[in-house]
This record gives sequence, structure tokens and C-alpha cells, in this order.
Amino acid sequence: MKKRKLDMILERVEGFSAPDPRLEQYSTPAPIASEILYSALMRGDLEGTVCDLGCGTGILAIGAAILGSRSVGVELDPTALKIANENARRLGATVGFVRGDVESIALKGVSTVVMNPPFGAQRGSGGDRAFLRKATEIGEVIYSIHNAGSEGFIRRFVEPCKIEEVQRIAFPLKRSFKFHSKDVEIIEVELYRIFCR
Ligand code: SAH
Repeated sequence: MKKRKLDMILERVEGFSAPDPRLEQYSTPAPIASEILYSALMRGDLEGTVCDLGCGTGILAIGAAILGSRSVGVELDPTALKIANENARRLGATVGFVRGDVESIALKGVSTVVMNPPFGAQRGSGGDRAFLRKATEIGEVIYSIHNAGSEGFIRRFVEPCKIEEVQRIAFPLKRSFKFHSKDVEIIEVELYRIFCR
């Protein structure tokens, strides 16, 4: 499947109906999701089981399934999971969605983790720690989005796993919370590819 086709399919994924700022519910926009997944596909990282930690309404997990992975999504919020299930059904993707906290969930047989974790922007930095900890515990390769400028912290935190690549991306945040003043705010984020093999 061409990247553009994937992008068009993922545009049809519904986002959060009532995003919860405490859980930092920001959906990954379709063009960014397809960019990440396509680059994982090209590197052979979608051949085994893919896990999306904090899957929200499912865009990354669904995209991985559409590209041929066995795909699992973990999410704390039942309302988001309900939308995720509907999204998967509507797009004909088979995804195992699991309700759980990434801190305590037990998962086996995962080869690749793809995630857009909370950045910790609302509660001070470090919201992504539990996610990185679980990702390095279960994954062989990790694709993860973080605030720009996180490289030093992430390098130390994931040891002995290694950062293989860092890519800057402009991430449009839709106005979804009261404290946002603009309709769309572009923030600089970084996509990390981390190797734990
Ligand atoms: N992966 C989705 C959503 C990103 S927003 C996407 O890319 O569109 C981050 C998600 O992590 C939210 O859906 C939030 O509810 C979830 N989340 C936050 N803390 C969590 C935790 N401890 N365990 C599981 N999910 C969590």
C-alpha cells in the first residue's frame, strides 16, 4: 500500500470526543501517523506484533494492522477505547484493544512498540517515563514521539537500549482544551527510533 493511501484511510479515524487534559489526550494527525508507520514498514519493523501504548482512539494501532501487523493497543480510558473499537471496525482493521495502565500491563511477544505518550506538559515533565519504561521492557524496536529537546533525557533513560534515529516533526495540536488560545498550535516534537535488541 502506498503511503498516500494509508494517509487517506487514517484520515477517517475519529479522534477523542471529550479529550481529558489530565491524560493528555492529543491524537496523532493522520499524515504524521502514516509517516511513522510507513518508515517502520520500510525498515521491516511491522513484521511481528506491534503494540501501541496509550492508543487513544487507535490511529497508530489501526494503521499498523492495515499495514499487516498483528496489532495490540493499550489504553486507560474506556471512552477512548470505545471509539478505537468503532474506528477499527469501520476501517476493517483487526486490533486487540486492551484496557489497562501501561505501568502495570503484562504483554509478551511484542516486537515493535509505536507510541505517542503523554509528554508530561500538564503535570511537569516525566509523563512519558512509565511509557518508556514499559516500551523498553517489552519491545525490540520503539517508535516514540516526545517534546523537542528530550534527547539527553531519553538517551539516559532507555539505557542499555540505544537511540538509533531522531527526526524533528511539526505536530499540529488542535484546539481541544480550554487553556489553548489558538485553533491550531504547531509544536516541535521529535520522533525517536530506539533499539533494544
Ligand atoms: N496514541 C494515540 C493517543 C495519544 S494521547 C494517538 O497517537 O492518537 C496519549 C494517550 O495515553 C491518551 O489516550 C491517554 O488516555 C493515554 N494514557 C495516559 N496515561 C496512561 C496510562 N498510564 N496507561 C494507559 N494509557 C494512558
